[in-house]
Amino acid sequence: MAGQLIECPCGTVLRGDDLDDVVAAAQAHAKTVHEMDLTKEQAESMARPG
Ligand SMILES: [Zn+2]
Repeated sequence: MAGQLIECPCGTVLRGDDLDDVVAAAQAHAKTVHEMDLTKEQAESMARPG
């Protein structure tokens, strides 16, 4: 299965083995780095194969 990636507007690229994995990584990044709550829907809309 192809991995997934989400590129944060700050330039950080989050990668995961699958959609759930990369969504969790992006949510953790948004929370810790940007003090922002990213919803699952928002994260999923930013995800692409990579
Ligand atoms: Zn970021």
